[in-house]
Amino acid sequence: MEELKKNINSDEIIWSSIKIQLKDIYGESEYSNWLKLLTFNKIDKNIIIFYAPTKFMCDWILSHYGKKILSLWRERSKSVKDISIFVYNDKETDKKNKNYKSFENTISNTEKDEFENNLDPRFTFKDFVVGKSNELAFSACRRVADSEDVPFNPLFLYGGVGLGKTHLMHAIAWQKRKLNPRLKIMYLSAEKFMYEFIKALRLKNTVAFKEQFRSVNLLMIDDVQFIIGKESTQEEFFHTFNALADQNRQMVISADKSPSDLEGLEERLRSRLGWGLVADIHPTTYELRLSIIEAKIEKYNIGLPKDVMEFLAHKITTSVRELEGALTRLAAHVTLVGRSVDLEIAEDLLQDLLRASDRRATIDQIQKKVAEHFNVKISDMHSSRRSRTVARPRQIAMFLAKNLTTRSLPEIGRKFGGRDHTTVIHAIKKIKELVKNDSSLSEDIEILTRSLQS
Ligand code: ADP
Ligand code: MG
Repeated sequence: MEELKKNINSDEIIWSSIKIQLKDIYGESEYSNWLKLLTFNKIDKNIIIFYAPTKFMCDWILSHYGKKILSLWRERSKSVKDISIFVYNDKETDKKNKNYKSFENTISNTEKDEFENNLDPRFTFKDFVVGKSNELAFSACRRVADSEDVPFNPLFLYGGVGLGKTHLMHAIAWQKRKLNPRLKIMYLSAEKFMYEFIKALRLKNTVAFKEQFRSVNLLMIDDVQFIIGKESTQEEFFHTFNALADQNRQMVISADKSPSDLEGLEERLRSRLGWGLVADIHPTTYELRLSIIEAKIEKYNIGLPKDVMEFLAHKITTSVRELEGALTRLAAHVTLVGRSVDLEIAEDLLQDLLRASDRRATIDQIQKKVAEHFNVKISDMHSSRRSRTVARPRQIAMFLAKNLTTRSLPEIGRKFGGRDHTTVIHAIKKIKELVKNDSSLSEDIEILTRSLQS
């Protein structure tokens, strides 16, 4: 009897413990927006069956959390193979029902290849929105994914946070595997590379470690800036890189900066990384952000009024990740309340995100960023040198200080080597005039503004 009771409840118990873990992983608010609405039903033929209130929620939860839930469940019970989520009111539905959506294709092989487990099924080329700022990186990734040979080695992708580097790398992996399931593809973060390497050192297992990497057809290492300053890992990475390059195996590397800007990276490694094609992803433009919003709301089948979309594209400029966060929140609201949001509700729901996006920069940060951008010394921001090469960036910094901070003109003047407020006024006027006809200057200012607000 005791035994029976335990059996009846054990799946429920597993689910309760997984819920606690999910809350930890995704945080309280994301958990209560989505996962809390999931009701466990039963395990049927090794498939975990859940219910959720709407079709949209089923799809969303499945695509965003399905893999995680399954892998957590498998840590506790190896026999489960898949997960399905049905809408509440058609509990009798079976596999043939249109609500049935399976992960089978993407995860049945997970045991075979631990590394594919790292790949996000949402990160495909199809779901990547292309615009001016990312078209070079996108085309380069497509080339690598679709070629049978090695078009450039390595492909080096770089750009700021949340602009799609990881998405593109996963997309290469999915596409390559589709074209040739037998290829050995390995994707991992540089951090994980280091972790595995150190583990191998400790277990005196480095031969196996080396072999594992050197037998792949495609190696992708994400966020390589992470190993800067980690000498032995850098060294090992360098050898892995060379071994694969010698065998003409494709590599794709990402970082937050270009190889030449990755300070602290060993010189010989830096030069190797620049051997192939270096493709950068620029900050998003307004148009791209709008297209991304349109694509995402279409995919999840929620309506948003045009003015709300435009508002988001204007306000949430830091990264696509933030934009997704905002949309998720609006989508949750739409789904739960059952009607669309208007501008006022959107502003209300997104208060904290908008505030973060509006965050004020300090004059010191502005001077530092501008100096970096134009390759002048920070001290030139305070100096009395008047040559154009330093005077112009200084004027731009003053202009930005006026626009992005709440400092008064005299305060700004003081921060720029004790200049008079009339000098500041002059600088602002000058820059306003110049941007009218100088599109590269206005672009510089846009980039600086955005990066100072992130
Ligand atoms: P990075 O690795 O550069 O920090 P990610 O690849 O993790 O950025 O992207 C952050 C999020 O934004 C992901 O969910 C990704 O799908 C999404 N994203 C980024 N760029 C695009 C794009 N052009 N189209 C659609 N989604 C995008
Ligand atoms: Mg990334």
